[in-house]
Amino acid sequence: MKHKIYLSFIILILFLGCSQISDHKSTSASNPEITTDDILGHIKFLSDDHMGGRYPGSEGSNKTVKYLVDYFKNNNIEPIGSNGYLQPFEFITGVNLGEQNNLESKGLLLETYWTNYQVGSDYIPLEFSSNTNVEANVVFTGYGFSINDSVHWEDYANINIDGKWVMVFRGGPDDDNPHSSFTAHTPLRKKALLAKDNKAAGVLFINQAGDTDDLIPLKHAPNSTSIGIPVLHISRRIANELTDNKLDALQKELDKNQAPNSYYIEKSVKASVSLVKKIINVPNVMGKISGTDPNLKKEFIVIGAHFDHLGFGGNESGSLSPDTLAIHNGADDNASGTAGVLELAGKLSANRNLLKRSILLMGYNAEEEGLLGSKYFVNNPTVDLSMIVSMINMDMIGRMSDKKITVGGTGTTSEFEMILKEVNKNHGLQLTMSPEGYGPSDHASFYVKDIPVLFFFTGTHTDYHKPTDDWQHINVQGEKKIVDLIYDLTLKLSNLDEKLVFTEAGPKEPTQSRRSFNVTFGVIPSYGSQAEGLEIDGARKDGPAANAGMQKGDVIIEIGGKEIKNIYDYMYRLAELKSGQTVEVKILRNDKELLLSVNL
Ligand SMILES: [Zn+2]
Repeated sequence: MKHKIYLSFIILILFLGCSQISDHKSTSASNPEITTDDILGHIKFLSDDHMGGRYPGSEGSNKTVKYLVDYFKNNNIEPIGSNGYLQPFEFITGVNLGEQNNLESKGLLLETYWTNYQVGSDYIPLEFSSNTNVEANVVFTGYGFSINDSVHWEDYANINIDGKWVMVFRGGPDDDNPHSSFTAHTPLRKKALLAKDNKAAGVLFINQAGDTDDLIPLKHAPNSTSIGIPVLHISRRIANELTDNKLDALQKELDKNQAPNSYYIEKSVKASVSLVKKIINVPNVMGKISGTDPNLKKEFIVIGAHFDHLGFGGNESGSLSPDTLAIHNGADDNASGTAGVLELAGKLSANRNLLKRSILLMGYNAEEEGLLGSKYFVNNPTVDLSMIVSMINMDMIGRMSDKKITVGGTGTTSEFEMILKEVNKNHGLQLTMSPEGYGPSDHASFYVKDIPVLFFFTGTHTDYHKPTDDWQHINVQGEKKIVDLIYDLTLKLSNLDEKLVFTEAGPKEPTQSRRSFNVTFGVIPSYGSQAEGLEIDGARKDGPAANAGMQKGDVIIEIGGKEIKNIYDYMYRLAELKSGQTVEVKILRNDKELLLSVNL
C-alpha cells in the first residue's frame, strides 16, 4: 500500500483525520490477555495514515503519546516519568532564519556604495554556519581542496586566506562519476572545515556551471552545531558580480588542468548571519508495575520499545525512499514493538501478584534520530539505574517467518542463554542468539550503562524505512508468539533469586564507525548532546581514548591542534589519522582544559 501525499495536501488531511480518529480504537483494559486481535488493533491504530508517521513532536506523535498514557492509566499502571507518565526532553526540529541576516559587497578601489543582496533568493546561510558578522576581502579558491593521496591538489597552498572570505565551488571536477576520487573531499562541511583550518573568515559556496542555481534548503541536521565561521551559499549571479563574470572560465580552467587557480578578488563582502534553532519538548512515556517482594521490588526490569518513526521521510530523514515525500507508517518499525509493550503491560498488570521485582514500561521517543529518548532516560533516570537488572527491547518484531527470532545481547550476562532456552521450551521458537550488547536500537543506551540487555528483532525487509512498512505485512500470529515468550521471560527474570551480573559483550560503540576509518579512538559519542565539541558517553576499555585517560562526560575540543565543534568535525579529523600515530587531544573536563596523548 502506497501513500504518496505531497505537502500541499498534508495539512488538509491532518484536519480531516482528527474527527475520524478519536473513536477509532478504545484503549480500555477490556482484555488483559495477549491476543492477536489486540496486537493488530494497536499496530493498525499506530501505523494509520492519520498518525502521519509519528515524527517526534508531530500531531501523530502526540496522539501516540496519549494512546500509551491512556492505556497505562486504564491498566492501573503507575506513572514514573518526571511529569506523570511523561519524561519530556529537548528535541531540535529545525532551524530558521533569525532577524539579522545581511549580505553586501563592494569593489575595493572605485566603489563606495555597498550592493545589498536578498536572503533566501540571492543567498542563504548553511545550517552549520555560525551566527556572526564578518567584513573581509574575498579570495577565489577553486574547489577548496587539500588532497594528498593518489591525487595532489592544494587550493590553499600558495595563497594567504587568513581573515578573508573564500569563494569555493560545490562538488568536484567530475561529479557525474559515482566512483570519482574526489567524492570524499566534496562534503560541504569538510570543505568549510578545511577553509577554517586555513584561517578563512568565512566561506561563500557557489554552484557549478550547468547545475541549477537553486540555493541549499535550510534544514537542521541531527547532532549539528555551528562550525565556528559564517558559511553562505551565494547565487552564481552574485559570484559573477564578484569575479567580473569569470565564473565559467574559472571552472573550465580548474576542470581542464585539475590544479589550483586561486586568486585575490578585488572585492569586499560584509555579512551578518542569524540562525535560530527550533527546540521543542518531546516525551518518553513511562509506567511502573510494583513487584510484591518487599526487597526485590526496589529492582526493575525494563520493557521498552520506541514509538516514533520517520514522519513523511524525505532527504536526510533516514528514509530509504528519500526522494518520495510520503507517510512512513512504520507498522513493523516500530508499531509492532510498541504493541508488544502495551500487551505486556496489560497482562503483567493483571498478574502483578506473580511479580517479585517491579516492571518499568517504556515508550521511547526520537529513536530514529539517534536513540535520543532512551539516551535521555539513562542520563536522567527517574529510578536508580543500578536497580535496573535487565532491559528488554522490542524493535521490529512483526515480520516473523518460520518461527525465527533474533535475540541480541545474550552475552550481556552469563545467564541469559540458559534462561532463554529454558523459557523457550514452552514456545518452540527458533532463537538466533547474538551475544553483542550494542546494536542499532534503544537497548544500546542501556548496554553502555552496564545493564544486561535483550533485543528482540524479526529481521529487516524490503519495506524497512520505506512508506510501504504497513500493517498488512505484519505476521500477527508470529508477533503473539514472541510477546508470549517475553511475558514468560519477564516473570522468570522478575523472580530470580539473585540479581543478574553484567558482562561486557562486544564494543560499546557502533561497529560501522570502526569500519569506515583507519583508526578508532574507542569512544562512545553522546548523540544529542548540544555541547560544543564532541561529548563522550564513555570510552571502550583498553581502547586508545581510555588508555589516554579519557572518561565519560569529557568533551573533545581539539585533535592534533585542530578544533572540534561537533561529531562531523570529529569524523573528518579521525579520517585523516593513521594507525600507530600519536595525537594530542584537548578535552574539557568539568570546564577545565586537559591535553591527552592518544596512541592509535
Ligand atoms: Zn526501529
